[in-house]
Amino acid sequence: MIKRNSGFENLTAGYLFPEINRRRREYVAAHPDAKIISLGIGNTTEPLPQYISKALSDYSLGLATPEGYSGYGDEQGLTQLRKKIAEVFYKDMATEDEVFISDGAKCDIARIQTLFGSNVKIAVQDPAYPVYVDGSVIVGAAGKNNGTGYEGVTYMPCTPENNFFPDLSKIEKDSLIYFCSPNNPTGAVSTKEELKKLVDFANANGCIIIFDAAYREFIRDPELPKTIFEIEGARTCAIEINSYSKPAGFTGVRLGWSVVPKDLKYADGSSVHADWNRVMTTLFNGASNIVQAGGLACLDPEGLAAMKSVIDYYLENAALIKKTFEGENFKKAGAQVYFTGNSPYIWVKFPGKKSWEVFDTILDKCNVVTTPGSGFGPAGESFIRVSAFGHHESVKEACERLSKLEF
Ligand SMILES: *Cc1c(COP(=O)(O)O)cnc(C)c1O
Repeated sequence: MIKRNSGFENLTAGYLFPEINRRRREYVAAHPDAKIISLGIGNTTEPLPQYISKALSDYSLGLATPEGYSGYGDEQGLTQLRKKIAEVFYKDMATEDEVFISDGAKCDIARIQTLFGSNVKIAVQDPAYPVYVDGSVIVGAAGKNNGTGYEGVTYMPCTPENNFFPDLSKIEKDSLIYFCSPNNPTGAVSTKEELKKLVDFANANGCIIIFDAAYREFIRDPELPKTIFEIEGARTCAIEINSYSKPAGFTGVRLGWSVVPKDLKYADGSSVHADWNRVMTTLFNGASNIVQAGGLACLDPEGLAAMKSVIDYYLENAALIKKTFEGENFKKAGAQVYFTGNSPYIWVKFPGKKSWEVFDTILDKCNVVTTPGSGFGPAGESFIRVSAFGHHESVKEACERLSKLEF
């Protein structure tokens, strides 16, 4: 018989969302009339802008005509789209052949791990988006979980005490560093000075940064960096991963991209870009041509304006949620709210309480689903993440209920 990949035996995390759903179902079974509102998951809720949806449907209808039909395209993506992404997001920072189009950021993060194999050391922010560590465990780059974390992984706490920017001195030489800004789940955005420290550290210590910029379009403070490539030195130490999911509502449509600079090298001097090209052309067969047409439309002036207005909509929700958690009732409970207006997540600490305890109280008393911070890593304990993805009316209703909550 064939042996199971031991990575799967080692995997212990990943129960967060199934556990949230289990508790929600159990609550609804006991309270069938409860009208549950979810501010729990990072899933978009608002319809696609007409301009973008039309580009998808036009391309799709075109496929039924001899002129409009196309089969396999370049695995790296439509040249036009690569070019447009380079122009719109990376002017003078990356070239079109350094941009690779994909079916989403999560899939790219998983494929990226094939570049480094099972012998690389890992460093992650704590708390973090689960795929960085779980994917590393599956490919064997991280080992068993000893109760405080996986072997081979350095956890870098990001807390109010360090303004959500980690102590880099804990990172070992030659590590793969996963870094997410704006951050999921904390909502924190690193400044240029902070990212410069990260880049300098990576260059000095043989590290490669996998920079997840999935929430870049939520950044409204013009001083904050939207890409790691705004930082001098990043081209020799960083890969950026990005996605249309959150800015364009493409969570179900599926489209993302990565940027791998040609200046990035392995220890032996060979090119990471060349291997990434190999991975994308070997293990991937290109993103859907229909979806890429939609992705192009997103970057037209009309598309960019439409995306901005949907993000504004979510940011209005976020402002209301922030205000609600800053209310007197939460103050009395000692709640501390972290939100700077540049992400869809509000991160709230309840000192002395466990994340799941707060989750249960809010579910029970307000019928609102949140996400326990402890599910994103040990440093997330005592926090909950509240998501601004939702229709205005339901977010408003949730906030009204929350404002009456007594602990
Ligand atoms: C939602 C999200 C993504 C997007 O993943 P897709 O596969 O493109 O939908 C990537 N990174 C983080 C941190 C996210 O929260």
